Amino acid sequence: MPHISGFWDRPPKPVPPRGERKPRNTGRSRPPDSGFSPPSSRKPGMPPAVLPLAILGAGAAGLFAGCLAGEAGLPALLLERKSRAGCKLLMTGNGRCNLTKEIPVAQMLADFGGAMESFLAPALNAMPPRSVMAWFGRHGVPLKTMGDGRVFPASEKATDIAHALVDTLRDTATPICLNAEVLGIRKENGLFSVQTRTFALQAKSVLIATGGVGYPKTGSVGDGQKWAQALGHTLVPYRPGLVGFVFEHPWIHRNAGRTLPRTTVRIRIDGRAVYEGDGQLDCLSWGLGGAAAYNASRYTGRECPRAFTLEWEADGQTFRVETPKTRPLKESIAVIGGVPLDEVDPQTMSSRLCEGLYFAGEVLDIDGPTGGYNLSAAFATAALAVRSVQRGNGGRDEQREVL
Ligand SMILES: Cc1cc2nc3c(=O)[nH]c(=O)nc-3n(C[C@H](O)[C@H](O)[C@H](O)COP(=O)(O)OP(=O)(O)OC[C@H]3O[C@@H](n4cnc5c(N)ncnc54)[C@H](O)[C@@H]3O)c2cc1C
Repeated sequence: MPHISGFWDRPPKPVPPRGERKPRNTGRSRPPDSGFSPPSSRKPGMPPAVLPLAILGAGAAGLFAGCLAGEAGLPALLLERKSRAGCKLLMTGNGRCNLTKEIPVAQMLADFGGAMESFLAPALNAMPPRSVMAWFGRHGVPLKTMGDGRVFPASEKATDIAHALVDTLRDTATPICLNAEVLGIRKENGLFSVQTRTFALQAKSVLIATGGVGYPKTGSVGDGQKWAQALGHTLVPYRPGLVGFVFEHPWIHRNAGRTLPRTTVRIRIDGRAVYEGDGQLDCLSWGLGGAAAYNASRYTGRECPRAFTLEWEADGQTFRVETPKTRPLKESIAVIGGVPLDEVDPQTMSSRLCEGLYFAGEVLDIDGPTGGYNLSAAFATAALAVRSVQRGNGGRDEQREVL
């Protein structure tokens, strides 16, 4: 059996100011009547024979779900295939972690757009940006909000966000098992059997939080979508969501390596502007990157126009290229596609096809613009899934404090 650990190697966490720090090992005990194997039938230190909740994947969504489960007294175990939790989280915002955007929920939902607007409404209303901020504030991470609403740790270190999450798992005695690649899930006699490379466990509920398929070296390789398919779900095909455009253009050759802090990018179809956005534009040897290009690629990734014009403003001029390619899926910051939203109940994040199965984060067909939207969606869907599992287990709704 692999080592079960609540934390990974890291420098010591800076001690937050007095008053903001939660007491360690508060001794919040699991509810004695939680309906699972009685403690007497367990070896000390071992999880119950049938877990109330197995959380598959310890990225942004899985870690947050584990923390909220622990804080609500819901016994849960996280399984993570990498030797470290939150590999992608540590890369976010160029290592600074833009964890959310301090804007009204209605605006955030409108910016997600499409089917995501209504699907994410229950989750984001229950865990809006200000609640995410309050949660991290309570867990010893001072935050700062930029003029445009983007929220970062004041330290500008994504590690502070990851430490707060992993420390909360430890403080709530929520086990996380690293190097534990899940190979598959089966449902038998109302229980899930979760098979890893080296051991199996049974769980009453399973939360799939294995992410999308971008940056696969961070561990997100699309396994959760395959398990969902095996349990009856379909799959919306993957397309790059936030990614650079690849093309040849004399202006690019002249300006490679230059960053334009704020410029306008448009997508035109048959001459009509169908998308316009502002932001940073990075001129690269192969084309255009940066937030302004990424957000435009989200439009073309979602709408899949056969032909379009990419237009950008620079040096008082307008430049255009016709139907540029994009960088590959594996370089996509957010991936379009995954488990279809109409197969998941937006009020609970539970599968409409397989009882006891829940989803959170990018494994779903959810992708937002740059600016903290994707982590906001991961945190909010995780919180809603945990609350739903807890209610299904007849637990006390202690999460009201959290949500
Ligand atoms: C470079 C980069 C920068 C970004 N910056 C931002 C930003 O600043 N703000 C923002 O909002 N969003 C940002 N994003 C997007 C954001 O990181 C993702 O949307 C978010 O991490 C999704 O969270 P998740 O938990 O769903 O998936 P992930 O964070 O991808 O986590 C999934 C986890 O599941 C594990 N897993 C997968 N398969 C298995 C298996 N078989 N068994 C066990 N475990 C498994 C993986 O190893 C991984 O740890 C960025 C993305 C990238 C790539």
